[in-house]
Amino acid sequence: MTPDARPIGILGGTFDPVHHGHLRIALEVLEALELAEVRFIPCRLPSHRGQPVATPEQRLTLLQLAVADQPGFLVDDRELHRDGPSYMVDTLASLRTEVGATPLCLLLGMDAFAGLTTWRHWQEIPELAHLVVTNRPDAGPPLSNTLNELVEQREIRQPEALRECPAGGILFQPVTQLSISATRIRHLLAQGRSPRYLLPEAVLNCIREQGLYRPPLPTACEE
Ligand code: ATP
Repeated sequence: MTPDARPIGILGGTFDPVHHGHLRIALEVLEALELAEVRFIPCRLPSHRGQPVATPEQRLTLLQLAVADQPGFLVDDRELHRDGPSYMVDTLASLRTEVGATPLCLLLGMDAFAGLTTWRHWQEIPELAHLVVTNRPDAGPPLSNTLNELVEQREIRQPEALRECPAGGILFQPVTQLSISATRIRHLLAQGRSPRYLLPEAVLNCIREQGLYRPPLPTACEE
């Protein structure tokens, strides 16, 4: 391994749509851990939740608009080219073949980390990347015993340790708490209310241009 290889951050998600919660944590982690970059990886077909409202291409376009002016932010569309559900273990394996021994840091909100054991081949994930877990308001249920054991075995407390090996550590990284979710943004738009300031203006403009997440049209008997 290159001794001083700066780790690559990965933020996977549905991004239906991307919002300031995603962008702010990515920026804080990029700076705090001195990452080389953060790659936003939208999933094509989520494996453990309902179908997104926007198409993969629409979500990709929104992400590209969101990251365009931030150095160090990249959009990686590899999951959009794979058939079937998007499994993070496959994504990390394909990244690993490209980056060699450069450390990979998978950024996970606490809600996502709490559900890790439901992911396909989840035990392989810490072998492929470090896990950087960020706190999130309303984080949901407490960690399972299995995850608490995983933390006991793998927790690291110093960010510098992320550079010492390609994968395997778990770091809890405090970030600014922003109670923003894509679900809330979709609900606001569906109710004809404004989600302005919860997401980048360029993203909101594109949502409006494309008529995404609009309120359902009234049915004939409601007119
Ligand atoms: P939805 O409301 O549709 O479930 P979401 O807002 O949670 O979406 P995702 O695309 O599912 O967004 O999230 C991708 C990743 O970003 C997850 O690891 C999630 O924990 C994290 N994340 C999303 N919003 C926030 C936030 N406000 N603060 C911290 N982490 C967040």
